[in-house]
Amino acid sequence: MKIVFATGNINKLKEINEIANGSGIDFVLPEEGFNPIEDGLTFEENSYKKAKEANRVSQMISLADDSGLCVEALNGAPGLYSARYAGTQQEKIDKILKELSPYSNRNAKFICVMTLLDKDGKVLHISKGECFGKIALTQSGTNGFGFDPVFIVDGYDKTMADITEVEKNKISHRAKALEDMLLYIKSNIL
Ligand code: IMP
Repeated sequence: MKIVFATGNINKLKEINEIANGSGIDFVLPEEGFNPIEDGLTFEENSYKKAKEANRVSQMISLADDSGLCVEALNGAPGLYSARYAGTQQEKIDKILKELSPYSNRNAKFICVMTLLDKDGKVLHISKGECFGKIALTQSGTNGFGFDPVFIVDGYDKTMADITEVEKNKISHRAKALEDMLLYIKSNIL
């Protein structure tokens, strides 16, 4: 079955379809005109707003995620504002390394909240995944996207951009949130 995935980020769509591989679900991009306003105050609110906008343009069952990087020494920043933290991916990486340079506490986590709406726009299920780690002292790796080159997952000695996509998709915040969502979909919709 097809479910619209509320994103304009092709990397995220690819990740979601890789994680869901074999589930019988094919996630597709929203129709033209998808333009969510992410002005919520929580990951939950923003994922709802994105799912609602995808539902408006596609009139299909819609799934959205909202995610971000929360750094302990920065009181949880950039958090909800991760996507707008700086211009390019490289500028975001440079900024986080600079901001964290005075701190020895490098603890951080990725958070992902997903919201699933039925084709009439009603909330069916909300799921959440977290992935704990540390911000590296220098960037490394070319896989993944966003802050992956500076995020060392607990239990690993490499960044998320140094591990393979297959490995990332077993342990990431998005994989955890999607696993829970797929259980719901398999039990209630498929
Ligand atoms: P949004 O969920 O599309 O609003 O974007 C969240 C932002 O958080 C992204 O633009 C990235 O900067 C960051 N982010 C979320 N998930 C990941 C990930 O898996 N790896 C690296 N950065 C991520």
